[in-house]
Amino acid sequence: MSDCLFCRIVAGTIPSKFVYQDDQVLAFEDINPQAPVHVLVIPRRHIPSVADFKAADANLLGQMVEACVKIAKQKGIADQGYRIVTNTGSNAGQSVFHVHFHVLGGRHLTWPPG
Ligand code: AMP
Ligand code: ZN
Repeated sequence: MSDCLFCRIVAGTIPSKFVYQDDQVLAFEDINPQAPVHVLVIPRRHIPSVADFKAADANLLGQMVEACVKIAKQKGIADQGYRIVTNTGSNAGQSVFHVHFHVLGGRHLTWPPG
């Protein structure tokens, strides 16, 4: 998917600040952070949104969530709390159609979200 922004980040053709990587998952700093910690966790493989996950992706999904938890610990926000968010479709404000989990923390996060 050469026209996908996050596939380009996976390929290394667009620079980003990596904070975590393993065989299936990559994580990097959001370019427009909405909290003191704002990291994006993505699969290396192109999957447009959570709506496209299949049962066979269970292992990948587990690895993505595990990566979020590792990053929260690494960033020192695990004890105070953080949020894992994935926007799906236009009403939710999804702007990049390569599935990603936002890991947000480092400040009090209000609820409900806007
Ligand atoms: P969403 O709106 O949920 O699809 O999230 C897309 C996120 O990608 C936004 O928070 C953007 O700030 C972020 N973003 C867009 N381009 C880049 C980039 N080149 N590097 C890092 N984050 C990006
Ligand atoms: Zn992609």
